[in-house]
Amino acid sequence: MLTLWIRKILFILVFSFLFSSTGIADSLSDDFPLEYDDYDHNHSSPYVPQKSPEIDDLVAKGEVFVKQKKIAEAIEIFKMVKKMEPRDPHAYIWLMEIYMRMNEKPKALRIFEEISKYSSRLNIFSDLTLRISKEMSEEKPEHEPLVYIAPFKDDKKAAISFNFDDGPKTVYTHALPVFDTYGYKATFFINPGLMGDGRADDTWASWQDWKDAIRKGHEVGNHTVNHRVVAGIADEDLEKQVNGSYDMIVQNLGRAPFSFAFPMDTSDQKSVQKVMERHFALRDHAVLDQVYENIFIPIYGGRFFTPLVGESLVKLAIEERLWMIPQCHAVKTNEVDTYKPVTERFLKEHLKYIKQNEKDLWVDTFVDVFLYLFVRRSTRIEIQETLEHSVVFSMTSHLKNDKFGIPLTVVIKPGLTKIKEASVKIKDQEAPVPVQIEENKLLVRLPPNTSQVRVEWR
Ligand SMILES: [Zn+2]
Repeated sequence: MLTLWIRKILFILVFSFLFSSTGIADSLSDDFPLEYDDYDHNHSSPYVPQKSPEIDDLVAKGEVFVKQKKIAEAIEIFKMVKKMEPRDPHAYIWLMEIYMRMNEKPKALRIFEEISKYSSRLNIFSDLTLRISKEMSEEKPEHEPLVYIAPFKDDKKAAISFNFDDGPKTVYTHALPVFDTYGYKATFFINPGLMGDGRADDTWASWQDWKDAIRKGHEVGNHTVNHRVVAGIADEDLEKQVNGSYDMIVQNLGRAPFSFAFPMDTSDQKSVQKVMERHFALRDHAVLDQVYENIFIPIYGGRFFTPLVGESLVKLAIEERLWMIPQCHAVKTNEVDTYKPVTERFLKEHLKYIKQNEKDLWVDTFVDVFLYLFVRRSTRIEIQETLEHSVVFSMTSHLKNDKFGIPLTVVIKPGLTKIKEASVKIKDQEAPVPVQIEENKLLVRLPPNTSQVRVEWR
C-alpha cells in the first residue's frame, strides 16, 4: 500500500516537472514572457530550487523513515529540508502526504499555504490533495441532527473570499471590473501610507478608486500604513501602523474597516491584541481557526498559476468544505513586474468556472463570511418539541449587538427522501417565514435570537 503511494507521488512529481518545463510554459508565454518566472518573497529570485546532494540525501533519508513508519523522525527531516531550501517541493509533498494520512487536515492545509508562497506550481499539490482526500475520506456514519445551522450561508459546501493585498492600481483597473461582471464581491487590503497623499499615480489605486469599490459593494480592509511587519515592533509604531492606518481609512473613505490583514502574514500575540481593539475580522490563523475549522489561505498568482490550478483548488474547497481565502496581489500588465501577479484572463476564466459551480459555493467579502461563521459559533439551537411532521425550536446567541443580528441558514432534515410541502411560523408572528424546500431538507433564514420556531412538513 505504502509503496503504491510512493510510486504515485514519484509519478506526479516527474510528470509535473516535465509538464511545467515544456507544455505549460509555452502555453502561457502570451501572458508571461519567458524571462518572467515565479517570484519568491523577495520579488527577486526566480523559482529554481537549489539542487544539492545534501538535500537529496536528507529527502531520501526521510523517505526511508516513512517506509519504516517512523513518522515523527520523517516529519523532523522534512521540516529541516523545508527550512534549508523552501523552494524545493519534495519536503512539502511528503509532509502533506503524512498529515493527510494522519487525518490532520489543518496541518496539511498549512503546508499547502506555505508552498504557495514560494511556488505557483500548485498543480502538483492540488492533484495530490484531491487524490489523498478521496482515498482518505472513509464513509463516516452520518449522524445528522434534525435541526442545525448550516456551516455556510444557504448551506453551500464551501465559501470563497477573494483578497487583494496592498492596493495596486491594476487591481482597481483590471480585477474589480471582472468581479463586477460576475456580480461577486471582493476584499481589498490597502496601505494608506503608500498612496501618496491620496493622489492617484500609476502604481497605487487612489482614495477615489476605493470609494468607488465600496459603492459597488466591495470591502476595503486595513493592511497597515506602509506594509510594515508589525510583530515585535515598538508600541508607538504598532499604534501608528494599526490604528493610525484605521484613522486614515475612516477619514478618506468615511467608513471604518472591519477587517485587517497582517503584512507578510506575520503577527504575534501583542499585535493581534492591538488589531482587535478596533477591527473585528483578522486574516490570521490564530483568530480564524476559532470561528471555523477548515480555513485555507493559498496565495494565487505567478507564472504557473493557470485556470486549471485555480479550478483544482475550488474542487478541493468543495470536497473538504473549506473557507478558501485566495490571497492575490497585483494584476499582471506589461509594464510592471510584481510579486505573483494574476492575469486578467485568469480571473475571467476562474470566476466563470466558479459561476458554473455556484450551487456549491458562497462567494462573498472577507468580513461577511467571517461574520456569519462568528455568529454561527455563538448560536445554540434548542429543540422544544418533536413530532412526526413538525418540530419546534429556539435559537439563542449571547451576542446582543445589532451588528450580530445577521440571518443564519437553518437546515431541517426530517429524514424523508422527498419533502412535498412545508411551512415555518414564529410564535406571536402573523406572517409565515419563507422556506426553501430542497429534496430532503428545508432551508430557513433566521436571526440568531429567535424563539419558538414551528416547522411543519409532509
Ligand atoms: Zn501585503
